[in-house]
Amino acid sequence: MSACPNTAVADPARCEPGGPSQPLPVLGREVTVPLVTGGEVAYAALDYAASAPALQRVWDDVAAYAPYYGSVHRGAGYLSQLSTDLFENSRAAVAEFLGCRPDDQVVFTRSTTDSLNLLAAALPGGCEVFVFETEHHASLLPWRTARVTYLDAPQTPGQAVAALEGALADRHDPYGPALVCVTGASNVTGEIWPVRELAAAAHAHGARIVLDAAQLAPHHPVDIAELDVDWVAFSGHKLYAPFGAGVLAGRADWLREAEPYLAGGGASRTVARRADGGVDVEWHDTAARHEAGSPNVIGAYAIASACRALAGFGFDALVAREQRLVDTVRAGLAEVPGVRVLSLFGDDSPRVGVISFVVDGWNSSHFAAALSAEYGIGVRDGLFCAHPLVRALLGGDPEQSAGCGAPEALNAIRVSFGAGTPDEHVE
Ligand code: PLP
Repeated sequence: MSACPNTAVADPARCEPGGPSQPLPVLGREVTVPLVTGGEVAYAALDYAASAPALQRVWDDVAAYAPYYGSVHRGAGYLSQLSTDLFENSRAAVAEFLGCRPDDQVVFTRSTTDSLNLLAAALPGGCEVFVFETEHHASLLPWRTARVTYLDAPQTPGQAVAALEGALADRHDPYGPALVCVTGASNVTGEIWPVRELAAAAHAHGARIVLDAAQLAPHHPVDIAELDVDWVAFSGHKLYAPFGAGVLAGRADWLREAEPYLAGGGASRTVARRADGGVDVEWHDTAARHEAGSPNVIGAYAIASACRALAGFGFDALVAREQRLVDTVRAGLAEVPGVRVLSLFGDDSPRVGVISFVVDGWNSSHFAAALSAEYGIGVRDGLFCAHPLVRALLGGDPEQSAGCGAPEALNAIRVSFGAGTPDEHVE
């Protein structure tokens, strides 16, 4: 078993990009695609906000572990025990990456969407929820069965904090449980939200706050204790790991008191038939309570590997490099006549590598299709699962409903990039 992966030790050399201005090695950098105009071109993946390519290091770690994987929390055999150790070490690595407090829980889920739905299912009775209409649908929709206040799109970070304070001050039961859900960085504008200030406002009014870090965590350090948020949710496939695994980390109490998200093996400590013919169940009060069924150990392990790689390389260099790419894209777009970059908070607002725009006289879907077919550039077009926000930014009616196939006139184009993006892709 000497080849068995030692996950406790991060090897910075394997994620060293060769200098602070170089991209981290990711999968798919050598892919070439055919062009309608003939010939082939190196594919430029500018859709990191949807799913980022996995880091080569994550792929290597998964490949090294794959021959050894076994059932988790179930088997007496060596490989089962190894997998259980790796699964629990992965949990510890995520806790470290997020700067979790000692009594926080890290629950492995399928994705950010799953994490937020889990928290929604764990809300205490009577909980009021406050959420800006600008959220991604994953953080806008899970609370519909609670008493939700949807806040209008703010025009400045200060306005966001003031609007939240006002809404919390007016809540129905000032002493009852309340939850604020806020995104760390918008998946449409890339703008970074004033999370620390919103958390302070929530706590000042006795509410809790969950951070949707799906777009923030791949680009910026997210420290749960330092931001003073109660929970953080993110997805592996946006954090340079493969699909199928996500995280909900934070306060244990609401999670411990809630019904298990899924009922089944792994979540239950003991199960016994009752004399009346029914079944008594004692549930775990650890993260396992919400992880019923055989867990996605490879997904969890891949997330932990990505966390170690990003922490090992250091966010200072990643942020500085990405900011340079953001500036390049913004400056380039500013020179193209008819391009309008979408922004809530204005040009000077800090943002991650996510930029959406419209081009006068162009249907955004046609524009995106042309970028792909004629230049081999992969971007996204549409309403980005944030329909009310895009409508607000494009001047449409935020109350108008639409399916995921959005009306074309209200489409935008999004370019997004990150730690693996070479300069030539944004150029
Ligand atoms: N939150 C934000 C801000 C997102 O951008 C996304 C996905 O694009 C999600 C949540 C949902 O992530 P997932 O599809 O991985 O559940």
